[in-house]
Amino acid sequence: FSSVELTKATFKRIAETDSKVEAFLSLNEEEALKQAEAADAKGYTEENILNGIPLGIKDNIVTDGLTTTAASRILEDFVPIYDATVVSKLKEAGAVNVGKLNMDEFAMGGSSETSYFKTTKNPWDLTKVPGGSSGGSAAAVASGEILGSLGTDTGGSIRQPAAFNGIVGMKPTYGRVSRYGLIAFASSLDQIGPFSRTVKDNALLLEAISGYDKKDSTSVKLEVPKFSANLNGKVAGMKVALPKEYFQEGVSAEIQEAVRKAAKQYEEMGAIIEEVTLPTLSYGIPAYYIIASSEASSNLQRFDGVRYGYRSENANTLEELYVNSRSEGFGLEVKRRIMLGTFSLSAGYYDAHFKKAGQIRTLIKRDFARIFNEYDFILGPTTTTTAYGLGEKSDNPLEMYMADLLTVSTNLAGLPAISVPGGFAANGMPIGIQLIGNYFEEEKLYQAAYAFE
Ligand code: GLN
Repeated sequence: FSSVELTKATFKRIAETDSKVEAFLSLNEEEALKQAEAADAKGYTEENILNGIPLGIKDNIVTDGLTTTAASRILEDFVPIYDATVVSKLKEAGAVNVGKLNMDEFAMGGSSETSYFKTTKNPWDLTKVPGGSSGGSAAAVASGEILGSLGTDTGGSIRQPAAFNGIVGMKPTYGRVSRYGLIAFASSLDQIGPFSRTVKDNALLLEAISGYDKKDSTSVKLEVPKFSANLNGKVAGMKVALPKEYFQEGVSAEIQEAVRKAAKQYEEMGAIIEEVTLPTLSYGIPAYYIIASSEASSNLQRFDGVRYGYRSENANTLEELYVNSRSEGFGLEVKRRIMLGTFSLSAGYYDAHFKKAGQIRTLIKRDFARIFNEYDFILGPTTTTTAYGLGEKSDNPLEMYMADLLTVSTNLAGLPAISVPGGFAANGMPIGIQLIGNYFEEEKLYQAAYAFE
């Protein structure tokens, strides 16, 4: 069938489903159909496998001519005049942009409930959260609206919603994918990555968006391997590290069980599983929340009511214009982060907080380096629980932050990590298994994830 047919079917599916799931913030129907026509005219070959495939984009990634809000009131009417590098790359590959996906405001959160516009629901159980911050990107794929999407991961925002929705989500190595055109949350942690149903689709998407970009000075000049080319399910002889810290009280018994089962499966496929220690695990959350909030407080200074988006109507002086635009434009969680970050960076507190967090970050990197000296990848859980009820944690930020235990350390270290479906809990909700690899070893992660799938 043609891309036009597929694209029409996609919008039909969205029309039937999205009033319940609420994954999309905006749809790009007219333009998408034009892109589909162009894709059909170009024709499908093995070389341009994404040609004509309908995909969705998280709403903190800028799209030329298409509203990009980062799910914030402050950017409610913001229409970018250029494409993010990942969006240009998908266009070059012939992919069809279906629309923009809901998220936590400025990607701050773990449930997509901090969005100013709507609350996305988990398609497996509409009373539960889809996870976050890329909740819309995950729910749209899990509900069968689209075949794949892009999300962003600063402290787990691709892997955690992938786990909650029973799909595949990859956070690439820091520097693998250009951040040009990504509305920055914490620049030293942010990475864009793909969501999909299968490991192979995920590998194809990462291939398309990866690579050096002169517009992002932190993108790395490295050949992009054909991640999808050698997927054959061979893991025999691979050495797999299983950190004992993952089997602690904070991680639900069902999830621990699923990880043990996964380890056994790898063993049966000929991999060598060994228990290791990861003593820095519990320092990840405090270090992450100080570093991420500090960088956010700096990055979000640009939203001043003058240059972008929302401007308060009730201001008589310049000072009032700044204060009121930001007070009215930002939501509660974003303000909390700006305050925490500004405090951590302020004179007199910098050494005790921001500097200390940086030192912990170094220890975390060393902890991983020690393991990767000997092992091919780390096996563990993605999340401490399965998807919880809507509203269950939204009044308790600390509890929300604690749920990031298993994902933030990889961002602090800059390592790649993938979440793959690993069965279901007794209540029917999906469980995610996380594989963490050494720098730029996404190919190995895909190989191992494909074997497990
Ligand atoms: N839940 C984490 C936070 O709130 C991670 C968010 C993300 O990765 N964007 O900061």
